[in-house]
Amino acid sequence: MATIDGLPPLREVIRDHELVAKKSLGQNFLLDLNLTARIARSAGDLAGSDVLEIGPGPGGLTRGLLVEGARRVLAVEKDPRCMAALAEIAAAYPGRLEVIEGDALEVDVRAHLTPPIRIAANLPYNVGTELLVRWLTPPEWPPFWQSLTLMFQREVAERIVAKPGTNHYGRLAILAQWRCDAKIVMSLPPEAFTPAPKVHSAVVHLTALPEPRYPADPKVLERVVAAGFNQRRKMLRAALKGVHPRIEALLEEAGIPPTERAERVSIEAFCRLARLVAAA
Ligand code: SAM
Repeated sequence: MATIDGLPPLREVIRDHELVAKKSLGQNFLLDLNLTARIARSAGDLAGSDVLEIGPGPGGLTRGLLVEGARRVLAVEKDPRCMAALAEIAAAYPGRLEVIEGDALEVDVRAHLTPPIRIAANLPYNVGTELLVRWLTPPEWPPFWQSLTLMFQREVAERIVAKPGTNHYGRLAILAQWRCDAKIVMSLPPEAFTPAPKVHSAVVHLTALPEPRYPADPKVLERVVAAGFNQRRKMLRAALKGVHPRIEALLEEAGIPPTERAERVSIEAFCRLARLVAAA
């Protein structure tokens, strides 16, 4: 069967390289190249960008990114069994695909990338949130990347884009939306993957804002938000007791009722409170 890039269909690749999916590595593969090309397109204009992909596996999304014109793709994959399949893709796209065999939580990718940089991945569920939090909390802002286009379990995607007053609103929503535009751009049923996971998935697209939406010291904001949501059922004056001895007065000054719960407080109000805590 002809494919969009003339390389063998992914089912053949998986069979020939004996890539039986491993649960321990979060392996749920996308085998439809039209779908991976669509995900690649949702990452924005790739032509002038280096793209960092975490967990290329047999290379479905990698091939989508290359077909859609990524200047270069740097792919970090932990499973050594995938290297031969990825080498075949690299050979078909001379100079455009570099593969690093290693753990994405440990590899330093910066030296291998030239800006502008976009990140795109069907993330392994076991390290997905940790990688996202790292990308959202770099030492300096703007970060080294322009955009993140990431596949998550639907529930995690909803936590990233959640608005105040909804069930999913929490630390992840604030971390993401304080300094990024974040939206769900695609939803996928379990059958889109091989093997099919138990839950639905969604692709989230985040674009880094040039500067935070509201001023605040990132460390103070993180401390206030973490304390607020650690005990999300408690009123803020109780949940934030450890943050500052005069927290009740600071909440009032920030315009937040001290009896309010964290899940109803906007990012703007959290930033106001963080500024007051930092100055007090
Ligand atoms: N991109 C492929 C696709 O869409 O079909 C595979 C996605 S699969 C959900 C996740 C991939 O991440 C697997 O290939 C797995 O081996 C890899 N992986 C798991 N943990 C990793 C880690 N810590 N660092 C790098 N890759 C990892």
